[in-house]
Amino acid sequence: MASNEQRIWNYLKSKGLNDFGVAGLMGNLYAESALNPKNLQQTFEKKLGYTDATYTESVDNGTYTNFVKDSAGYGLAQWTYWSRKQNLLNFAQAAGKSIGDLDMQLDFLWKELNDGYRGVLDLLRNATSVLEASNEILFKFERPANQGISVQEKRANYGQVYFDKYASTEKGGDVAMSNSPLVDYTLISPNKTSPRRGEIDTVTIHCVVGQCTVESLGALFAKSSRGASSNYGVGKDGRIGMYVEEKDRAWCSGGKDKNGNPIRVNGISGSDNDHRAITIEVASDTTHPYAVTDAAYEGLIRLLVDICKRNPGIKRLRWLGDKSLVGETDKQNMTVHRWFAYKSCPGDYLYERHSAIAEEVNRRLDAEILETEDDDMDAAKFKEMWLEMRKELQDNDAGQWSEAARAWAISNGLINGNGSTVDGEPNCMWADVLTREQFITVLYRFAQIMGKA
Ligand SMILES: [Zn+2]
Repeated sequence: MASNEQRIWNYLKSKGLNDFGVAGLMGNLYAESALNPKNLQQTFEKKLGYTDATYTESVDNGTYTNFVKDSAGYGLAQWTYWSRKQNLLNFAQAAGKSIGDLDMQLDFLWKELNDGYRGVLDLLRNATSVLEASNEILFKFERPANQGISVQEKRANYGQVYFDKYASTEKGGDVAMSNSPLVDYTLISPNKTSPRRGEIDTVTIHCVVGQCTVESLGALFAKSSRGASSNYGVGKDGRIGMYVEEKDRAWCSGGKDKNGNPIRVNGISGSDNDHRAITIEVASDTTHPYAVTDAAYEGLIRLLVDICKRNPGIKRLRWLGDKSLVGETDKQNMTVHRWFAYKSCPGDYLYERHSAIAEEVNRRLDAEILETEDDDMDAAKFKEMWLEMRKELQDNDAGQWSEAARAWAISNGLINGNGSTVDGEPNCMWADVLTREQFITVLYRFAQIMGKA
């Protein structure tokens, strides 16, 4: 018989959840019960004097009668609250199954999700990452006392194990947009519009106005009262944080003019900008010119190179510092917050370096393309390089040691050169290779001199 995890994966897939959704849900179930449907909450084993097996057996045969009200977590999802345990017990009895039966619990879980968590189910069908699915279950379905970052990461990591093991080989088949593999820290902000409208074709660099870490920036964006976020952040130490996945729109470049009126540039508002842009907040000083550390600058460059590599809508960076080109991404695909709001963002330090940033990012992209081309050496490329090398060998450089022999060969007509001259001398291509055809010609001429041909 298949393992519990295989059976659970197959069951949830058969219900129409996508791979990310199933993995995110399973990671949470693992955290609750290690996927053991007979799991009795550890602390109650001693308190009630039961093991997983004896508790299950006693509920099944009716000798234990306080299942509903004992407040002990039980089963795959560690159902604890009395009304949920009551429903589980009724469901098992109606099905004529043991309270610890895996298939019965999966049916019950599915019924619970359908009855009370339609929004969660929708997300699990369309999730675009394990983390997204896992957090949805954590916050809205399991709701344990501790929902902190370490718990979020732990559960998503459990889910990732199932994803890597069972997801279809075209991983990412479900996702249109990816996230940066350079991310050191993730804390998804509630301040976002999901999904973003349209393609990514722009980047917008912002300054934080504070020499923060990616963790402290994440904590700021985690507050919905803040009403702000960015896709990525770069900390003062150059580490990279993600707060809004690339598939979603961050709330980053919006604002008003100094009279409080909305601003549109070529019909594009700051929030329109965020629908098409990947927004990056960089830790900076709190005063003019809002300088950033060398480490943060380097982190920003690395992140931008990665963004250009992954997003077909931004193959390289273009910057002309011309506000009137907003929206014309074939000419300029970098924008700045100061165009959309009465703000100095990204600060003069970064603003004045936009040309240099674009240049360095493009230089690294070109260098990587060259490297890749070297890997893809083909016959045509080899021929071209071989001819190039022969041209170098033909520049008539010859060693002093062969001087007498060369003079003799020329005076006897053994070697005549290729018809061109170098510094007034016939080009005899001294360092080039000799073909069999040339070899036999030289021999023939030698034989003629000797009167043998
Ligand atoms: Zn800004």
